[in-house]
Amino acid sequence: MFNLILFGPPGSGKGTQSQRIIEKYGLIHLSTGDLLRTEISLQTSLGIMARNFMDQGLLVPDEVVIAMIASRIDENPRALGFIFDGFPRTCAQAIALDDLLNRKHGEISLVLSLVVPEPELIRRLLHRGATSMRADDASENLVRARILEYHDKTAPVADHYARLGKFRTIRGDGSVEETFLLLCTEIDSLL
Ligand code: ADP
Repeated sequence: MFNLILFGPPGSGKGTQSQRIIEKYGLIHLSTGDLLRTEISLQTSLGIMARNFMDQGLLVPDEVVIAMIASRIDENPRALGFIFDGFPRTCAQAIALDDLLNRKHGEISLVLSLVVPEPELIRRLLHRGATSMRADDASENLVRARILEYHDKTAPVADHYARLGKFRTIRGDGSVEETFLLLCTEIDSLL
């Protein structure tokens, strides 16, 4: 199994690059943001609860996202591997993910972190807010709140994987195609 984490702040291009990577490598895409937005659109009790956090730019509680990911892994027993997008976002989530994969005799193969300067992140997110229905991209305050959550709670997850020798940074401020090629070079070096 090849299990990849696409890491990086909001607006760094994880969703866009994930789509290309699954097409090329046949991995299953697990995006906690997409899964939560589906729950919201279906108006499930999980979605209603999660929305309160997401509308403030805050992370949804660990146990909620961990349970969601656990069931998606279980639903795909024959997967060649997974690409995790937007997960793990806290150290507790990283430890839980290692444990979930260990139970299937798997592990995280690689963490690729997209590095994009903050003004460019804000520009991209506000552009997405103006052209899509993403409520959490609609205001600069909300975008800044999410970037703060990232620095506070998510950036420390990098150390967890760096200690395991699995963490690589990639420039994410070029074109979509340029970034994709950089990601593929790292992935191919392990396959
Ligand atoms: P972005 O990368 O632009 O922030 P996402 O779609 O990944 O967009 O996430 C949107 C929101 O969903 C986050 O701001 C957060 O509230 C919630 N969320 C997504 N993934 C997680 C996670 N792993 N842990 C906690 N909250 C999450």
